[in-house]
Amino acid sequence: MKPSPQKKYSLEDALQYIKGVGPKRAFVLDKLGIKSIEDCLFFLPFRYEDRTLVKKIADLVPGERVTFTGEIVVADTQRIGRRKKILEIQIEDETGTIPAKWFRFRELYMVEKYPIGARVIVSGKPEISRYQGKRLEVTHPDMEVISLKENETPEIGKLIPVYHSTEGLHLKTLRGILSRVVETHANLLQEILPDEIIRRHQFPSRSEALKQVHLPTNDLPVKDLDHFRTPAQKRLIFEEFFLIQVGLAFKKKLVPKTKGPGRAMKTRGPLIGKFIKLLKFELTQAQKRILGEIMDDLEQDKPMNRLIQGDVGSGKTVVALICLLTAVENKTQCALMVPTEILAEQHFLNIKPHCEALGVSIELVTSALPAKEKKRIQQNIQEGNVDIVIGTHALIQKGIEFKNLGLAVIDEQHRFGVLQREAIGKKGGHPHILVMTATPIPRSLALTLYGEMDVSFLDEFPPGRQPIATRIFYEPKRDQAYALLRAEAEQGRQAFVVCPLIEESETLDLKTAIEVQEYLQNQLFPDLKIQLIHGKMKKEERQQIMTDFLAKKIDVLVATTVIEVGIDVPNATLMIIEHAERFGLSQLHQLRGRVGRGQHASQCLLIAYSSVSEDGKARLEAIQKSNDGFVIAEEDLKIRGPGDFMGTRQSGMPILRVANLIRDIKILESARKEAFSLLDRDPGLKDPQHQNLRQAMQSYLGDKLNLMNII
Ligand code: ADP
Ligand code: MG
Repeated sequence: MKPSPQKKYSLEDALQYIKGVGPKRAFVLDKLGIKSIEDCLFFLPFRYEDRTLVKKIADLVPGERVTFTGEIVVADTQRIGRRKKILEIQIEDETGTIPAKWFRFRELYMVEKYPIGARVIVSGKPEISRYQGKRLEVTHPDMEVISLKENETPEIGKLIPVYHSTEGLHLKTLRGILSRVVETHANLLQEILPDEIIRRHQFPSRSEALKQVHLPTNDLPVKDLDHFRTPAQKRLIFEEFFLIQVGLAFKKKLVPKTKGPGRAMKTRGPLIGKFIKLLKFELTQAQKRILGEIMDDLEQDKPMNRLIQGDVGSGKTVVALICLLTAVENKTQCALMVPTEILAEQHFLNIKPHCEALGVSIELVTSALPAKEKKRIQQNIQEGNVDIVIGTHALIQKGIEFKNLGLAVIDEQHRFGVLQREAIGKKGGHPHILVMTATPIPRSLALTLYGEMDVSFLDEFPPGRQPIATRIFYEPKRDQAYALLRAEAEQGRQAFVVCPLIEESETLDLKTAIEVQEYLQNQLFPDLKIQLIHGKMKKEERQQIMTDFLAKKIDVLVATTVIEVGIDVPNATLMIIEHAERFGLSQLHQLRGRVGRGQHASQCLLIAYSSVSEDGKARLEAIQKSNDGFVIAEEDLKIRGPGDFMGTRQSGMPILRVANLIRDIKILESARKEAFSLLDRDPGLKDPQHQNLRQAMQSYLGDKLNLMNII
């Protein structure tokens, strides 16, 4: 017989024509995010089952992790105590029987899944029973029913990859499909990492790595596999981070060129000297250090692109101000963009007196401006009559054109998307860009998200700050929290009360800010001035309230989350958060950061209502335990995952298929180093040897980093 011509495979093959995948399965695979052959290859196991050691039941010994096969002969539940139940399934082979036990199980599901008479593969660690003398038993084993078709051998004697499957697709079927695709198609993958990097890190090739991860050889320690620490896994993690970092490095190298030269500024001029004299305090060492870094940037003729990370209350505003004034002193315009109107208004109110004293003109631009005024301001900005413009995202909308924008500062930048951040840079000239963030972004996330920027850490608080004491009050004790408010008020201190929503909308049980204000004013504190503030108020009204609050004419501000970011009232020492369980961790930390800004000891009281979820509880406890924004951000990343962490669609976060930002931070750092050094050697990625890499980066990142318009 003539051998049949060998089938030709290609990475472009349609999934449907892979053996075992018809239209129906293709549909289910699609739900798992598997649309192409390449998706299959990169759909990786999240853990492994060690079925290398196979024994007969009679040969099992306590404490040894093994695999055995057998038949289910009895399945029964027993009660222990009033509430607890145990499921016991007896498994038998030709040499003996052993009970498998479950203490946590869904009875109906288990009965259906493991019928009497079924043949099973069991993996676990047999131990001596605590109750039944010297008998061996195995608790919570991995157990799989075998329904072998002809010619099939059971999956034993090897390491078995376990994938996240979904309804309508047996794990075994999925495993079969994936292993077939890996066997036929993995070799077609081209290498994308440069040779020298592979050599330096002793990485396996790309296709070899994928084969090892899907079809691991028996000599690999399962522990390493489960912790993603085999060379193959490390290589794939590295590769993923590397693509992102190459993208960032590429951008960092090219952006200044496409943008043209920046404006070299003179720094530390007389205007700055005057301003520093006006300040009521001395700058901290950290503030001075960061200002030094920024001034060095501003003196270059290439546009600055710097991120300042500093916890809430570390004093970023004054740093921003000195930068703005430096731009003014260099006869250019500058802008400060913030995420909320109320914060824009506050900055405006704070900065205006300084500007007046220094003879600098300043305007506020928000979407709340009446049309006529807006037009006047727009015209003034365009003609160059305004030095400093403070505003919300209204600043990047159509109509605002600067005559000569030298510097743009973006405050609380995590609230803006990548595109918005970049839009401000396009408002005329090639301005220097300074972004500031108060939500501390975990270092690993910062490296992936803002890796094209230079980063400064404002890691020192102004002197005299006292740690904020945080306490949780569950609903029946709500009034105890408010009793503490009375105590603060008697000391002449002020308080914030934050509520999640302004009007009763979706859920009736949600405390509204209006209700809370009325309750506090009428029932608890008729003698205090309790004022409501929210985002739907008129600008003038809101400004008046903030001015009055600063002047201590108001004792308690009941607010929606509009006050979340930036607001600075040093005499406020108490923050009460209603329905604290509904807020995210970083949000809670931000809100708490509204107090503890002066010399007095401050407190944050979290009021939680009955049905707190497990996640909710975890958040409340995390926030109670730590005052450190970085610790909290890491915790948040753990609870929520990176995509969700950033909150917005436009966060610019590429999807990580293999890598984990917490587990793999070391690999991230090494990938970053390699990526930036590669781009030093080949800034445009023009080397023919780097074309695969360039393509892979483009297809992986797509428009995530807004690379398209520069490549
Ligand atoms: P954030 O970093 O959260 O934006 P702010 O810039 O609002 O913090 O500063 C918080 C408070 O600390 C403000 O009241 C500010 O006036 C004060 N502050 C800033 N720098 C100093 C300093 N060097 N010494 C004393 N107080 C300072
Ligand atoms: Mg701030």
